[in-house]
This record gives sequence, C-alpha cells and structure tokens, in this order.
Amino acid sequence: MTQYLWSEWRGEYVKHSSEHEGCFLCHAVEREPSPDTLVVYRDDSVVVLLNRYPYNPGHLLVCPVKHIGTIPEVEPNDLAYLFNVVRRVVKLAEPLFRAHGWNIGINQGRAAGAGVPGHLHVHVVPRWDGDSNFMAVVADVKVVSQRLESLWAELRAEFERIPLS
Ligand SMILES: [Zn+2]
Repeated sequence: MTQYLWSEWRGEYVKHSSEHEGCFLCHAVEREPSPDTLVVYRDDSVVVLLNRYPYNPGHLLVCPVKHIGTIPEVEPNDLAYLFNVVRRVVKLAEPLFRAHGWNIGINQGRAAGAGVPGHLHVHVVPRWDGDSNFMAVVADVKVVSQRLESLWAELRAEFERIPLS
C-alpha cells in the first residue's frame, strides 16, 4: 500500500521535472505564491506547494528552501521549523478539506522512491474514509487544473488568515 501511495504519479512527476532544467522544487522556491506555481506559502526557510501530480486532491509538499536531500543535512532548528510548518499545514487544511486522516512522510533517496532525490520534501496527503468520496466535497470543480487552482486559492486564503507562527 505504501509503495502504491507515493509512486502512482511519479512517472508524470519525473517527466515534468525533466522538462525544466534544474530542480523543480528550487524552481518553486524562486517563484511567488500563485495558482501557476501552486506555491501556497513561502518564507526564508520553507516553501509549501500543492503537488501537481497528487496521489489525492490536496496533496501538499513542504520542503526546505535550501537544495538539500537528506534529513541529517538539515540543521536541527531548521528541521524543527520545517515540521512546525507541517503541523500548521495540517491544522489549516484539516477543516478546509474535512480530512479524516493524513499520510505525512519523506522518501529520502531515489531507492526510497524520492521523485526529486536532491531536494528533501515532506508529503502531506489528506485521506478520507473511502477516499473516493472526496469528489463530493469539491464537486463544484471537475477539471483537474481547475480543481488545483481552486484548492490553491482556498489554501492561500487560509495561510493569509492564520499566521504560521
Ligand atoms: Zn532543489
């Protein structure tokens, strides 16, 4: 189940990355939050974005601004801050998505399934009882790109309404 969870979209993800030279996450870090970049939050050390090729709608990535690929490379204070942002993301998004549960985790290294092994990122994936029911929650939008834009706008509003720290 775990292998299935974060590998389904990897083919598209890798293809997408190769279309841009350099690191897809660094590319996101350099951009302003917008529906195009899917960046919903960014500060000096952390960026939060919607995954363009999600396992589930609302699949978010939380990553350090620095291009580093492993947990030991992250300074302890930065790691604590990174996970404080993960905490805030779940708190913000849970009522918004009406999520029943979350998969939160890191694939470190290509052997572990990391789509972008050079740039550490935490997957934050909302889950619902029977997951297929989610479309009832976002039934107003049917097209994937529109759904992502809609999710982005809702998340961005929450980030602006409730400060991270
Ligand atoms: Zn990077």
